Amino acid sequence: MRISITHWMRQKVVYTIELNKRQQKIIEIVKDNGPITGEQIADQLDLTRATLRPDLAILTMAGYLDARPRVGYFYTGKTGSQLLTEKIKKIKVAEFTSMPVVVQDSATVYEAICTMFLEDVGTLFIINKNGHLAGVASRKDLLRASMGKQEINSIPINIIMTRMPNITYCFKEDFLLDIAHILIRKQIDCLPVVKRSEDESGFDVVGRITKTNITKAFVELAHDELL
Ligand code: ADP
Repeated sequence: MRISITHWMRQKVVYTIELNKRQQKIIEIVKDNGPITGEQIADQLDLTRATLRPDLAILTMAGYLDARPRVGYFYTGKTGSQLLTEKIKKIKVAEFTSMPVVVQDSATVYEAICTMFLEDVGTLFIINKNGHLAGVASRKDLLRASMGKQEINSIPINIIMTRMPNITYCFKEDFLLDIAHILIRKQIDCLPVVKRSEDESGFDVVGRITKTNITKAFVELAHDELL
């Protein structure tokens, strides 16, 4: 069985899920005869129930089959692409977030550039003296600041950053697919992952989601044997 998924993040990518011959046969048997017990499936294939157990586990976990106690296996009717879509929609930000890199709003543009190189990130989050999210500085923000006549050693980062309330942020519980849509729509590379501060006066930065994290999620899905 070969299932193609297209149109992932506007680019055409073909993703394939291969079920082995025996697993395909099991699906056919359950489709035609379900609900059917593991024993009955094993009889039809001339195999023992024990031999079949890993295949049934895979097909159940992957969502092709469902099992009801004392009833047996039945076909869920979901195609590989439906199952993959369901899985993608369930991924949360928390599963793929990276460590945030923050600088104080009193830092200079020069210091911010040094931090960006040292920490090897493309976006910095700026925090105020309470430690709350105050701004975002991207590579081009820093490049732009460096092209002016002003001395980068003396310009504070908070002059050139994109500031609250114009920051787009997300929470650990958000769905990664929604964040992917936001990055595309707003044409930005990165979102801070935040949590409301205890005194509720601002947001603490607890993570970072970039296009790279989303690419990693995509690759991980492709390597996930159970879909
Ligand atoms: P670059 O500017 O290096 O291409 P981005 O596309 O991420 O990087 O940033 C574009 C602009 O959007 C920059 O001015 C940046 O400050 C701002 N920006 C980046 N991330 C965010 C965000 N999460 N919320 C609001 N503005 C952002």
